Amino acid sequence: MATIESLLRAADLPDSPSARLDAEWLLAAALGKAASYLHTWPEREVPVECEARFVADLARRRRGEPIAYILGRQGFWSLELEVAPHTLIPRPDTELLVETALQLLPAAAMNVLDLGTGTGAIALALAHERPAWRVTGVDRVAQAVALATRNAQRLRLDNAVFCESQWFAALEGQRYALIVSNPPYIRACDPHLRQGDLRFEPSSALVAGEDGLDDIRQIIASASSHLLPEGWLLLEHGYDQAPAVRALFAEGGFCEIESRKDFGGHERISLGRRP
Ligand code: GLN
Repeated sequence: MATIESLLRAADLPDSPSARLDAEWLLAAALGKAASYLHTWPEREVPVECEARFVADLARRRRGEPIAYILGRQGFWSLELEVAPHTLIPRPDTELLVETALQLLPAAAMNVLDLGTGTGAIALALAHERPAWRVTGVDRVAQAVALATRNAQRLRLDNAVFCESQWFAALEGQRYALIVSNPPYIRACDPHLRQGDLRFEPSSALVAGEDGLDDIRQIIASASSHLLPEGWLLLEHGYDQAPAVRALFAEGGFCEIESRKDFGGHERISLGRRP
């Protein structure tokens, strides 16, 4: 039988800064242990069925499949979420949206909406931090709604509910104090779509027309009629889209418009308030 150490040494992932870490994640998952176990017991033998799973998972990774899809889970905020190939993999950048929402609004009871919720990441992080908020997450994709609902149940966040809706289509007459979204915002011709993890993620969650702003335009145009007076709209967007998004907010009659920077120093979210 092979040992933990020998399997990790032999794992031939393409040269990348995360290769060793990727192999450790996959082996730990195959063993059903935390990654720290590998460091504590490098000389332990790996049962053959765990080795077989590790070898199969490594082959998927070698083909470029994102670790999150292979493991079926991804951390976001303080939560561990189930992920699947019909949703975007939650990104650390999106935590800025959560952080900003928590800063802007009081903890008192209110209705909050997350558009294009995917795994439910944003909605669930908000529901977790603000037990008095009632958070609704909508997605056009039925499997995403089912996935987000499973995540809410597993995390016991019963102040988050999910339903199928193409943006506001199924939400007639509903009004919210806060609307958040990480919509698709990549330009259709962006070469990054053919690289890395993006190749495996659903293009419907990534691509938004020629300038990447099709969905953001639509959301801003319809948001006011679903916001309470003085309600906030917060949107994630591409690193170079902030000026265009602020202009759309202004056109839509919003006030207190501003953008905020992500950890990489890029203006990553913009927000505005309904008068
Ligand atoms: N931030 C993601 C990326 O550039 C895109 C997410 C999105 O389109 N909403 O990889």
